[in-house]
Amino acid sequence: MKPIEDIRPLLDSPKKVIITMHQKPDADAMGSSLALFHYLRRLGHTVSVISPTNFPDFLKWMPGCDEVIDFESMQDKAVTALEKVDLLFCLDFNTISRTKHLAPYLEALQCIKILVDHHLEPQPNFDYGVSDTSASATALLIYEMIVKLGDEQYIDDAIAQCLYAGTVTDTGSFRFASTSSRVHRMVADLMDRGLKHEPIHQAIYDNFLENRLRFLGHSLLYRMEVFYEYNTVMMAIPYADLKKFDLQTGDTEGLVNFPLQIQGIKMAALIIDRHQEVKLSFRSKGGFDVNTFGRKYFDGGGHFNAAGGRSTDSLERTVERFIQALEENEEKLR
Ligand code: 5GP
Ligand code: MN
Repeated sequence: MKPIEDIRPLLDSPKKVIITMHQKPDADAMGSSLALFHYLRRLGHTVSVISPTNFPDFLKWMPGCDEVIDFESMQDKAVTALEKVDLLFCLDFNTISRTKHLAPYLEALQCIKILVDHHLEPQPNFDYGVSDTSASATALLIYEMIVKLGDEQYIDDAIAQCLYAGTVTDTGSFRFASTSSRVHRMVADLMDRGLKHEPIHQAIYDNFLENRLRFLGHSLLYRMEVFYEYNTVMMAIPYADLKKFDLQTGDTEGLVNFPLQIQGIKMAALIIDRHQEVKLSFRSKGGFDVNTFGRKYFDGGGHFNAAGGRSTDSLERTVERFIQALEENEEKLR
């Protein structure tokens, strides 16, 4: 994979570009993609953003999000865009399988493929890119790419808002271990360019419907189990809860972080029965590696302190397997 700054000559003449990200995009996947979208459009390229699935309502303020093609509900439009593409940008994921039903279409593309990502162990089949696991967010890598290409002057308010949104969420509002001076330097620069941060926090965090907050209370009260012997908290959410509280895409975002507020807890796991499959989210504080844990036991991965996985077993069986995995990791968790 050649370094990202080597794409400069490719951008010197108008290109047909597709940007895509992982399924159920979060603020970093969507923010980095839309920032790149605005930037490449400013350079005069024809740009489409394809999301493998729909995305949460709390991202629907992002400049440009109404132009995003949802592959699941607008497949024909996406396939038409995929038929004539010169450059494919893959943002905020490390393996093509994270694009769900879009994956076979991406694999079949013969165009130049570019990766911008910060997850561990990326797939090797990219022509250009940056894979930097020390970057707090993919949005930071997009910012640094624009700077490396000498195009800072194109960072307008739309780009700044998208970059900030991706960064504020992936760093847990600048508190996770992944927060660096690098990312604060980016934010300082964006603020010097006129970025207003408060409306972005409000759009993302103070935008719940009542049911979402009640679901949070219900989950903390009835679904949370603390395993002090493993310094671990598990929340297992049955499908019936998702129905009862009428949850929408994105409504469980952030829930996994709450248990880490308990003294001494090293790992939190959120296990949700999504009907077709059981999705797992892992977070850790300090030295427990949830990327390896997610990879080993639940066909997943991610980052050292934040990862995910999946299971095709029932919720009950997945919980049993999770507890078994805790037993096997007892020494590391103690
Ligand atoms: P979340 O728990 O917020 O869904 O995901 C946490 C981190 O782990 C994210 O960076 C996400 O990209 C990654 N991740 C989540 N689920 C999976 C998965 O099933 N496979 C892989 N490889 N990464 C995942
Ligand atoms: Mn990210």
